Amino acid sequence: MKAAVLIPGRTAPQPFLEIEEVPRPEPQTGYVVLRVLACGVCRTDLHIAEGDMPPVRPKLIPGHQIVGEVVTGATAELALGSRVGVSWIGGVDGDCWYCQHGMENLCDHPAFTGYTINGGYAEYALVRADFAFPVPEGLDDVHVAPLLCAGIIGFRSLRVAGVAPGERVGLFGFGSSASLAIKVLQSWKCEVYVATRGENHRQTAVSMGATWVGKEDEMPPVKLDRAITFAPSGKVVVSALSTLRKGGVVAINAIHLDQMPAFDYDKLLWGERQLRSVANMTRQDARDFLAIAQEIKIHPQVAVFSLQDANKALLAVKEETERGSAVIVP
Ligand SMILES: [Zn+2]
Ligand SMILES: [Zn+2]
Repeated sequence: MKAAVLIPGRTAPQPFLEIEEVPRPEPQTGYVVLRVLACGVCRTDLHIAEGDMPPVRPKLIPGHQIVGEVVTGATAELALGSRVGVSWIGGVDGDCWYCQHGMENLCDHPAFTGYTINGGYAEYALVRADFAFPVPEGLDDVHVAPLLCAGIIGFRSLRVAGVAPGERVGLFGFGSSASLAIKVLQSWKCEVYVATRGENHRQTAVSMGATWVGKEDEMPPVKLDRAITFAPSGKVVVSALSTLRKGGVVAINAIHLDQMPAFDYDKLLWGERQLRSVANMTRQDARDFLAIAQEIKIHPQVAVFSLQDANKALLAVKEETERGSAVIVP
């Protein structure tokens, strides 16, 4: 099969990926082989390609927003020929303390799709059957792909922040994840306040009907119940904290932050305000979010690339040249 294989240690302008012929994955018990229909390109793929996340395999097929058709290993839930989605969580051990306490997102021995195991920048992919989700009708291949990481993690962030219907919620940063989360918030009749650096992103937020839109250092005109930060910046976290009412929560949606600056505890955290990070996702988050996405008809903007052009897709994410989420169609 054809696959885009990541060669560790390369830096732009060298291409990160080589398009190669590699063996098609062999069927295995407990796994399904998928014919890949579409695979979203996530910023994390770029962190992996650029070595911000240390390489764990000498050769890797990236991609963790896979939409595929079951070709072998069908189960009662995943019928032959049916469409399934696969996300960043590619497996857990099932027996660590976290797994046994309903927190599989914090598993001590997780497998990450397109990082510790091969992903979906390929014609076929091998995935754990219990980590593949049926894709609801009405969500087409290309448009469901970006939902599988950015969408699910954005949705989990709303849960971690404890958002209740009708609340005032701040989104700090307005990339792929936030632009999907706003749809869920609007369906919950929340007021959404967006603060973000890029003019492009501010325009998108306005066009999507945000209650208020400002620059990253501007303060919303009211105190917020919840805030979610999407930028990998500690300064943004502190600024989000400063918008909260007493008892409010900031959820940080970032795998890594540059640094947390010192801040005034008495003014910013006292009053039972909370600061929480968002780590990975559970299978339940994925299923719940896909059901909501179908119900409220989330339809993200996408930019489609062929597998041959996988390098271009990664570069588009790096340079933010596309308005929509990059999706590879093999
Ligand atoms: Zn575990
Ligand atoms: Zn991702």
